[in-house]
Order: sequence, then structure tokens, then C-alpha cells
Amino acid sequence: MGMAAWVCFDCRAAVRRSITFAGEVPCPTCGRLCSYLGYKIPVPPKGKARGWSALRDQLAREHMQNDFAADIAAVRDRHALEHEIARLEAMPSNQGACSSHPVASPSAFRVKCLTIHQAEPSRCFA
Ligand SMILES: [Zn+2]
Repeated sequence: MGMAAWVCFDCRAAVRRSITFAGEVPCPTCGRLCSYLGYKIPVPPKGKARGWSALRDQLAREHMQNDFAADIAAVRDRHALEHEIARLEAMPSNQGACSSHPVASPSAFRVKCLTIHQAEPSRCFA
């Protein structure tokens, strides 16, 4: 089983755990929580201050990039939902209503109702 590293930048210490470990890892020296490094990035030697500084900067950059990518994905998902809502709301008011459950329900529900009712009438829940 592979091992991953967690590091304390203040103590320049590394702690290794199984890559499947999901908990928080305290620093054995100062007790503060270590930062997850993974298993691919080498841990600099304790005496190489510049290497530790570069590693801290690298992790900060990666976190910012991950946060930015998550923000973009969230906006993309929200736009897809807005387009779907607009498409459903643009449908004529009665179109999509199944004969058993006509009108007076939101358009998204009517489409779902029609889809289920046509495919499996016994499962139509309305
Ligand atoms: Zn520490």
C-alpha cells in the first residue's frame, strides 16, 4: 500500500500515512495540523529553507488553482440549469401535460410527469 506525506512548514517535518488515510495529521513536534502533500511531491531536506519555502508557495498556488476551477465548474453548472429552466419555461403552457395530470403544475413537473407516464404509466406518481 502506498504512503503519502503530510508536512508541517513551521517545523519542516514530514509525517507519512497510508494514501487511504482520511483523517487530520498533527505535527509530532508542535501539534499543529499538517498540510497534505500527497505521494508524488518530494519532501525537501529539513535544512533547505528555500526548498520548504518553494514547496509552501507551490501548494498555495495549487490550492488557488483548484478553488478557481471549482468556481468555474459551479458557474457552468448554474448556467446549464438556468438554460434548462428557460427552455422548459418557453414551452407552451399545455404542451407536456399528460392526459391524466393536465395543467396547473410547473412546466418541469409536467415534462417529468409526461415522460414517466408515457414510459411506465404505473409509476406516474401525480
Ligand atoms: Zn510542527
